[in-house]
Amino acid sequence: MIYMDNAATTKPCEKAFEKARKFVTEQFYNPSALYEEGYALQSELKKARSALLSKVADETAFELVFTSCGTESDNQAIFSFARRGNAVTTAGEHSAVSAPFIELKNRGVIESRIAPLQKDGRVDIAKLLSLVDQKTSFVSVMHVNNEMGAINDINEIARLVKQKNPRVIFHSDGVQAYGKLPFRLSRDIDLYSVSAHKLGGLKGVGALVKRKSLNLPPYILGGGQETGKRSGTENVFGIKQFEYAAEEKFRHLVEDGKRLEGYREKLCSLLDTEVYTRLSPVDGTPYILTLSAKGLRGEILLHMAHDKGLLIGTGSACSSNAKTRYNRIVLACGYDEKTADGTLRLSFSTDTTEKEIEEAAAILNEIGRDLKRRMA
Ligand code: PLP
Repeated sequence: MIYMDNAATTKPCEKAFEKARKFVTEQFYNPSALYEEGYALQSELKKARSALLSKVADETAFELVFTSCGTESDNQAIFSFARRGNAVTTAGEHSAVSAPFIELKNRGVIESRIAPLQKDGRVDIAKLLSLVDQKTSFVSVMHVNNEMGAINDINEIARLVKQKNPRVIFHSDGVQAYGKLPFRLSRDIDLYSVSAHKLGGLKGVGALVKRKSLNLPPYILGGGQETGKRSGTENVFGIKQFEYAAEEKFRHLVEDGKRLEGYREKLCSLLDTEVYTRLSPVDGTPYILTLSAKGLRGEILLHMAHDKGLLIGTGSACSSNAKTRYNRIVLACGYDEKTADGTLRLSFSTDTTEKEIEEAAAILNEIGRDLKRRMA
């Protein structure tokens, strides 16, 4: 089986898993317990917090709050800070951002403003800025688009937004960027969401990086864990495994990126251009290649690929329950319904091999030509 749906989730890092195992089998205590065994886990959580945070931010200016997933981090940021006037986001956001925006709009809490995308999947910065005014309380722009692979220059966008209105709280969904792009948060970014399972961690572990000076109203109340910012007994094993998996990823981040960029380009060059058109930009993340088999149905190709041992996506796995047939992000980039219907997303991990790339291209060509023939 060739697995190329790593933007949906990646295989957990086994080395990290083994290293963290003792937090299930031996040190399984509640970190809030008052005896030594429990209390000792607080320093393990502190180490994990610091290791994960220092990879992308200055620890004197930022802190990290553990959450249950990227979705919770996004929701926490939005429900905590998009509380008055208008809030601005982009048409490319994952539903973990777009759905809370719709909810707050429906509740009458905010006026929701959506900036359009360019053809390559990046937000149109000039149009985004035109939506920001003195009544804007919150802006959220994703770092790497999970459907198109496009990279938004969030440090620059945050700088321009703050230039227009310095009171704006700026959030970015960094779920597809963390551990995959060389990047550090600038002083203009206030909140940044990450998720463990996109880089070899476990599902159900995430974090919200926040500027220390920002007072975060808690979204989940209870026992006061995470210094009152997010209650609930910490998933010590999941957090430690996340820490160790991230150590592995960040150590080889640049080399991995270059290798995967080469693979992505090779795969693209092997594809039959009579069937496939590339949608994702050349300067996007090396981890995602989005294609369209225009005139064919992506979902059918997905199943045909599966039968041949290749696992791919047609876009966000989280959108698979959506009522609309067409990939909304591809439509938002200005493509027509036929192109959107033929969308396929191939996403790689550091485990992806060149041989798999060649085999994947051969499978895609075979099934694409086959379906095209049958549709003719
Ligand atoms: N944001 C983006 C860009 C994503 O790709 C995903 C997952 O696909 C999420 C948020 C949600 O993360 P999680 O699955 O950890 O809730």
